[in-house]
Amino acid sequence: MAAITRLVKRTTTPFYSLARGFSSTNTHAPPSQNRNIQWVFLGCPGVGKGTYASRLCKFLGVPHIATGDLVRHELSSNGPLSSQLSEIVNQGQLVSDEIIMNLLSKRLADGQAKGESGFILDGFPRTIKQAEILEGVTDIDLVVNLKLREEALLAKCLGRRTCSQCGGNFNIASIDIKGENGAPGMSMAPLLPPEHCMSKLITRADDTELVVKERLRIYNELSQPVEGFYRSRGKLLEFELPGGIPESWPKLLQALNLDDYEEKQSAAA
Ligand code: AMP
Repeated sequence: MAAITRLVKRTTTPFYSLARGFSSTNTHAPPSQNRNIQWVFLGCPGVGKGTYASRLCKFLGVPHIATGDLVRHELSSNGPLSSQLSEIVNQGQLVSDEIIMNLLSKRLADGQAKGESGFILDGFPRTIKQAEILEGVTDIDLVVNLKLREEALLAKCLGRRTCSQCGGNFNIASIDIKGENGAPGMSMAPLLPPEHCMSKLITRADDTELVVKERLRIYNELSQPVEGFYRSRGKLLEFELPGGIPESWPKLLQALNLDDYEEKQSAAA
């Protein structure tokens, strides 16, 4: 766990264009020094990448960059890519590497202009090609691979709700998997919205049963190999979610050696 402690050390880095990495063959990042953490969250649709990545980002003070959010933002902007994107996303397919690299580069450049440093990437890379491009332009310190019992994934996607006013993310699914054949049971309480959000809840267009099943299939085919890519580089931390947020969050902090992070920060100050 010493390596992970080292990664958590605060540092700052310049950003550079990821799109350059897409179009050029040999664009390497300058050696990173004094930079903030650069982590990636991997995992199947519905596993909770967004929930845990955004919590960790608040905790560590780094930006949470979810390529799914960038895609949805582009979709709702009614720009030139909107209709093409909506067809792809609503069928559960992956957007082209080129479009994703452009959206991500722009997000990183905007962040750089605002003085952001470091990130947790959520939903990227999703293909080996994307992982190779990322590796060509910067060093990723750590990749957290979130895992959840397969029976819970579909229910979690179908239970997902967002408040159209405050943007809060909730989940109305109540998961109770019985222990069977030696495997332990698992329960996850719903994450219910407050009363004032109730009438404003929306469901993602790609969170239907048919589309979620297709997204899970695509994950297994194209994104799961990314786990092996990082495992072979010694960067993968596997984390099996033991239940809902109350059980999982403290265990995740422990696995990341962050359970006494605030104490360590003040001791180092
Ligand atoms: P997510 O919110 O991560 O589930 O992403 C929603 C949708 O955006 C995905 O089903 C894809 O269509 C698209 N998308 C997000 N990230 C990527 C990526 N890295 N590569 C390709 N498509 C992506």
